[in-house]
Amino acid sequence: GTAPTQYGRVMLKISGEALMGNQGFGLHPPTVARIANEVDSVAKMGVEVCMVIGGGNIFRGLQGSAQGMERTTADYMGMLATVMNALAMQSALEALGHHCRVISAIRMDEVCEPYIRRRAIRHLEKKRIVIFAAGTGNPYFTTDTAATLRANEMNCEVIFKGTKVDGVYDKDPNKFPDAKRYGDVSYDEVLQKHLGVMDASAIALARDNKLPIIVFSLDEPGGFRTILEGRGTYTRVH
Ligand code: UDP
Repeated sequence: GTAPTQYGRVMLKISGEALMGNQGFGLHPPTVARIANEVDSVAKMGVEVCMVIGGGNIFRGLQGSAQGMERTTADYMGMLATVMNALAMQSALEALGHHCRVISAIRMDEVCEPYIRRRAIRHLEKKRIVIFAAGTGNPYFTTDTAATLRANEMNCEVIFKGTKVDGVYDKDPNKFPDAKRYGDVSYDEVLQKHLGVMDASAIALARDNKLPIIVFSLDEPGGFRTILEGRGTYTRVH
């Protein structure tokens, strides 16, 4: 069924770790399927959905460089990890009957499409779910920045950042029972207080283009749709 929503086109950013379930590493297929269901329920509302998935469940550039690997090489490995995650999500979404395209910032034509802005927009207009892979294609960036960049390029109205908690807190709610959740918070406050929403370059890019970020819990079943319908608990960074 469909419910009213104010949104026409949105970006969903999730970390790679969101796909690993209770494992310490890699992909947990039932968890991938569960998140695909969350996306499915929103796409069924007629909302055009872009996705960016991180790669931290497989490889992070900083981790590689800490182990002595050259930083840019390690970052390219991280970007490749995001392609694997994107393919897993594409497969799960296709299993639900959705048309879905993986678009990579690094060309690998046998595996997925290259990034061509107008083509990506056309996919969205045709209600295909578009997963942007390989981050920005540049080392020293993160998939948070990639999500913000693509959200701007695709004219998304908002970025939904799915996390393990239902918003942005003044301190870690898993460690401090008196942690307070923000309902609304400004980009500048997030930057000044180092609130863990996204990295600073992603926040600045969102701020400069007035793109709101909604932080919500992906662990709540039906959570994504609830938030899109304007219900539930979340933090709006704007
Ligand atoms: N990465 C990069 N450029 C980008 C996006 C990602 O170099 O534009 C690399 C970087 O090494 C990063 C890794 O890919 O550590 C995985 O991305 P990220 O850490 O953002 O994943 P997440 O924490 O969201 O799972």
